[in-house]
Parts: sequence; structure tokens; C-alpha cells
Amino acid sequence: MTAQPKRNSTTEWQAQDRHHIHPFSDNAQLHEIGSRVITKAEGTHLWDSEGNRLLDAFAGLWCVNVGYGRKSIADVAYKQLQELPYYNTFFKTTHPPVAELSKLLVDMTPKQFNNVFYGQSGSDANDTIVRMVRSYWNLKKQPKKKTIISRTNGYHGSTMVAASLGGMNYMHELADLPLPGFVHIRQPYWYGEGGSSTPEEFGKLCAKALEDKILELGAENVAAFIGEPIQGAGGVIIPPMTYWPAIQEICKKYDLLLIADEVICGFGRTGHWFGSEYFGIESDFMTMAKGITSGYMPLSAIMVSDRVADVLNSGIDFSHGYTYSGHPVSCAVAIENIRILREEKLVERVHDETGPYLTKRLWELLDHPLVGEVRNVGLMGGIELVKDKNNRKTFQPVGDTGTICRDHCFRLGLVMRATRDTMLISPSLTWTKGDIDDFMKLTQEALDLTAKDVGL
Ligand code: PMP
Repeated sequence: MTAQPKRNSTTEWQAQDRHHIHPFSDNAQLHEIGSRVITKAEGTHLWDSEGNRLLDAFAGLWCVNVGYGRKSIADVAYKQLQELPYYNTFFKTTHPPVAELSKLLVDMTPKQFNNVFYGQSGSDANDTIVRMVRSYWNLKKQPKKKTIISRTNGYHGSTMVAASLGGMNYMHELADLPLPGFVHIRQPYWYGEGGSSTPEEFGKLCAKALEDKILELGAENVAAFIGEPIQGAGGVIIPPMTYWPAIQEICKKYDLLLIADEVICGFGRTGHWFGSEYFGIESDFMTMAKGITSGYMPLSAIMVSDRVADVLNSGIDFSHGYTYSGHPVSCAVAIENIRILREEKLVERVHDETGPYLTKRLWELLDHPLVGEVRNVGLMGGIELVKDKNNRKTFQPVGDTGTICRDHCFRLGLVMRATRDTMLISPSLTWTKGDIDDFMKLTQEALDLTAKDVGL
């Protein structure tokens, strides 16, 4: 028997990791305390290098929709790596996985989408959309139509353009963002900003902010509006049902292209294949990533409506593309991932069974002194922690309580991320009612410990 090579220990990995600049991290502080080392995953659980088992309520980073450890995906990737590990799609060339995935995506998305472009991340996909939007209006001989409107606290990625589309001030600060041509309007965050208005009134009010901004800038200067059907990284902010129909109408009235960023909502998270279906959004572009491969390989895809594609395909070169656009292994993995979602009826399960069950269980938390609001659509949810639930008064400084709760979750064996003081839930779509029960038990414990820490 050959001896297994000796694996490093946690401290060795942490020492090596000091050379690694982590995304969205205070790296000096992180290197001081040492990163948590995740070494293995199976189903809905993770294991760290100390052997601790954690229930992953965040599906990696909103992405592992079919759960970890899918052998059939590994087999498909292995086969593709042997057959054709790479070839480009630039020079009048295609390959079977990208061709097959393109037809599959067209068949499963709304009827206006018959065209798809590929990247490797949600960020580069949104960059690409901005190039397409500009190209569209230039080809339409309306070159002044340039500005793109998005929302405060929306998230669209981390490239210079995607971060400009995003409305996270802390991402703008040190990088002189947003770039010119990107402006933001208020977000439809009823619990935090709705005051005494009903959700229905507030939804319309927030949509009206789009019309006001268009009138301020002049419709002849405005190219497009982008939004996540449900804001994810911003804190699982679910707009009132009056919001999207009003946005849609305003985009039509002033001839704006509408971009639905489905990077999180897509591929079943809301109990629908796309968040657009839940809200009845009819967009010109859909940005897709994450759940398209369940994170097993990097891939993003942009669905482009016929309205836009007919103009872009009007006899000019669209001079844009990435070495890995339509990467064969990523596309093969996406096809297998979609097969699993369909065959195991995971979207239907979230819609009919686990989504409603999560709602029911989350509502029980409203009795907890820390919990101001719970909200979810399907398996995308949030638990908002407040200092005084009768007056929706937040903790100061905002964010500390969420961090305390997140740290308790980790100690108890649960991965739940926090944005400000909202705990975010986005597990694999394979979660059963039993997984939700386990999750609720750990959450309840973490909330009790947090309440004690903050004196509630
Ligand atoms: N759009 C949305 C809605 C996202 O949530 C994210 C990532 N969380 C992105 C875009 C960017 O995707 P990526 O990190 O793959 O670049």
C-alpha cells in the first residue's frame, strides 16, 4: 500500500494563506487571526480542517443549488476535460457543450430570449451588458442615451463597471466610483425605509423615484435600468408586489432597456426558475451565473432579447469576448446541473414544499425579542435583527449585532451570513423540511446567545 502524502495542518495552511489577498476582507486583521480552512463538503454540510461539521445555510455564496458532492457533475467534467478541455468560440467556431447549452437556456427562459452570450462571472456578465446597451443605442442612432440607473444597495459585481452599477457606497469610496454615466435611486426596502406607508404604497413610491430620475436627466439621455428581482447581498430585500410592474411600465414609457440581474434569483432559488417569473418582469437582458452551474465551475450567461439582438446582429462585429466565453467544461457542467434540477424537481420542491415551510418556521421567530422582520421567497430569506421591534429601531453601530450572531452560528455549527444586522438564508435547494428544522434549532440558539450579548 502506498503511503498517503501527508496533508498540511491548519496552522501551516493559515501561514501559507497570509500571501492571499481575500475578497471583501480586512486582510491585515484576517492574517492576524488566521482564516478558517474548509476542506470538504457533502450534501448540505461543510467540514473544516479541524474536523468541525457545519450546516451550510448559504449554499457557498448563494450558488450551490444542487448541493455538494454530486458525482454525476464530476463525471461530466472529467469526461469533457478528456474529450475537449478547451477551445475558443471566437473565430467562426463552436463546440457541442456550448451549442447544446445555448438551446437549453433559450428553451427554459421567457419567450423574448433567443440569444445568449457567455462569461465566467456575474460581474463580467454585467460589464458585457453595459457594452451591449451602449452598442444598441449607438446603432439605433441615439448615442446620447448612455446613463444607466440602478439602486442604492443593489449589488451587481466587483469590476469597475459592475461596482458602478452597484449601489454599495463602501465599494465606491476608495476606487473613485461610480464611473460617469451610472446613477442610483432609492431601494424598495419597506421594513427599513417604508415608515408608515403600506408596502403597496411604498412599492409605487420607489418606482416613482425612477420616473423622477429619468425626468431629471432627460429620457433622451437614459439608456437602461438594472435591478435584482430581489436584492441579495443588500440584505434579501423583497420589493412590494407593486414595485416591478410600475418599473416595467416606466421603462416602456421612456424607452429604457430593462436588465434583470438574476445571478442569485435564477435557477430555482425563489421556487421559480427565475425571479422575473415570480414578479412578472419582462426584461431585455437577464444576467445569470452562480446557480447555472451550482458553482461547480465558473460560468455566466446573458440572455439577450430579440429586440436587442436584432440590432446587435445587424451586420457589424460585436468586438467583445473572453478567452473562456462558453468554456466547454463549464457548459457541460451547466447542462448536467440543469438536468439534476429538472429531474429531481428541485424548483417545484422549493415552490410547493420547502419554501412555504421555511416561511412558516421563520414566522415563529417573530416572537423573539431581537427579530424585527422575517422575509423569504422560496429558499431566499432574511431575519432582520433590531434593537426595538416596536419602533423598527436599529442597533448602533449597524452591523455589530449581525456579526455577533454570525459568529455564534459558526460556533454552533451553522454558516449564516449577515448583511448589516440582517441574517441571510440561501441554502441548497436540496434542503428537506428536516434540514430546515435543524437550521431553526441552531438559529434559535444563536439568537438567544446574541440577545444575551446585546442586553435584550
Ligand atoms: N449580480 C448579483 C445579483 C450578485 O449577487 C453577484 C454576486 N454575489 C454578482 C452580480 C457578481 O457575480 P460574481 O461574483 O460572479 O462576479
